[in-house]
Amino acid sequence: MAIKRLEGFDVVIAGSGPCGCVLAKDLTRAGKRVILIEKGGDSLKGIGTTRGMLNGEHMVRAKFPSVWQKTLEGNGTIVPTGLGGGSYLFAAIAGRPVHLEPFDKLGIDLRPHLEDAEKETWVSKTPDEFLGPTTKHMLEVTNAIGLPFETMHRHINFEKCMYSCKKSAFGCPISGAKWMGYYVAKEAEAHGAKLQLYTEVKNIIVENGVAVGLNARGLKDRQEYEIRGKTVVLAAGSLGSPTILMRSGIRGAGQRLFGDPAFVSSALLPKGNLKATFYEHGTSIGYVDNELGCFFSTNVSWSRLFWSFQQLMTAGGIRGALRAYKDYPRTINIFNKIHDEGVGRVTYDGRVSKTVTSEDEDKLNYCRYINEKIFNAMGCDPKTWQIPGYSHIKGDLTFGHPGGSCPVGVVVDKNLETELTNCFVCDISSVPSAPAKPPVLTIVTMTKWFVSQLLKRLNGQSAMNSKTSGSNLKAASEEHDSRV
Ligand SMILES: Cc1cc2nc3c(=O)[nH]c(=O)nc-3n(C[C@H](O)[C@H](O)[C@H](O)COP(=O)(O)OP(=O)(O)OC[C@H]3O[C@@H](n4cnc5c(N)ncnc54)[C@H](O)[C@@H]3O)c2cc1C
Repeated sequence: MAIKRLEGFDVVIAGSGPCGCVLAKDLTRAGKRVILIEKGGDSLKGIGTTRGMLNGEHMVRAKFPSVWQKTLEGNGTIVPTGLGGGSYLFAAIAGRPVHLEPFDKLGIDLRPHLEDAEKETWVSKTPDEFLGPTTKHMLEVTNAIGLPFETMHRHINFEKCMYSCKKSAFGCPISGAKWMGYYVAKEAEAHGAKLQLYTEVKNIIVENGVAVGLNARGLKDRQEYEIRGKTVVLAAGSLGSPTILMRSGIRGAGQRLFGDPAFVSSALLPKGNLKATFYEHGTSIGYVDNELGCFFSTNVSWSRLFWSFQQLMTAGGIRGALRAYKDYPRTINIFNKIHDEGVGRVTYDGRVSKTVTSEDEDKLNYCRYINEKIFNAMGCDPKTWQIPGYSHIKGDLTFGHPGGSCPVGVVVDKNLETELTNCFVCDISSVPSAPAKPPVLTIVTMTKWFVSQLLKRLNGQSAMNSKTSGSNLKAASEEHDSRV
């Protein structure tokens, strides 16, 4: 089959997660000709359901017996695909305050773009009426023992949302209350962006050291594509962007990886009036310990079936699943993630190897210690939080927010440009260090900053810092390799 050429674009974007979608919309609205290439589709089938979470078209699945992808070391990593990327099934927690420090150190000021990013991603504080009785009690109890739990901000339009709906984590199927990149991409399309779905980018087309487009392959039509434009932006996420760079011969890509390791601890409430937080609006209270790099919140409100299934697939086995089903009405959970050291890598074929260092382990143990304090203060029986599947000592970790695989200062320079002229990376992979908080708000703020810089360059105003030479980036990447 002859190669099909698509050309004449100002910006060719690979990957349609939150960053790719916002890029496509903002650049199209600024009058640029944009193509957004996504290997998944735009089907919302199964969204908002347990079946969709386990088997939906937007999930990258592992082979039986695992449901989700595994790291080479056997931990979990959840990789969504399709228009909107991770925002299809993210829990919509807005990670405030934004992870500014590593950007500040590089002289990148994201602050002027914060407000725009919050508006873009529908950030609003969870209204009081969305805090259920058990959640409210937990808020009081944690504050009383000196933990600064507070009401969380979410990427949710609460005017459309329902208090006890358990679905938003898996995508809102009913009213579109949860923000997803999907809507932004559709807006981009309405403004003239071309959406090229079911098309996987293979590598960058380079002529005289300058990126001039992308080679891609249709996953449904088996068509080979050559997609050309003035600028190439990789926004294919933590695993996609480094693999495209590796296949294009860029050194250092994928050689490190943070994961924000996450886990859930559980315990049973004493018999009485309070009921499981599962019946209430999930992830509505929490806090970030910025100094230690630990995040605490109530858990996503899973259905009884999903919670039992989760126990079956992790430490609990069949007995654990039955117990979880029986205990469901009295179960409370705390969801944690930590700022990890970023020791890990992406393989050439897009798989994850991720090591938990002893410093990471210390932070995870600190989270367990705080969780036990909370369960204690809530009157839970200590025996219940020592059940393997509940204490999570034996449970898998999930690397839910992998990133930093093409970090600023190592693989891309301060303009987010690679050693190839006109080839940029703008997504979670260019973030320099683990945010230890939900990252979408940070990366959309970074995207807004990047759009403002790129537009000046495309319009001939050359706002970007002078390009860091390829050899400097190589040196930084070698220095990094020797440290890891
Ligand atoms: C279960 C879960 C819950 C989460 N909860 C939250 C939360 O509450 N709050 C929060 O802020 N964050 C949350 N996150 C994290 C957040 O979803 C991700 O950090 C975010 O989606 C990363 O955005 P991105 O634009 O970098 O790329 P991604 O969202 O990873 O999107 C990349 C896209 O590129 C496509 N792609 C990859 N390779 C190619 C290729 N070769 N060719 C074409 N297309 C390609 C993929 O199919 C995908 O659609 C959660 C993540 C998970 C998994």
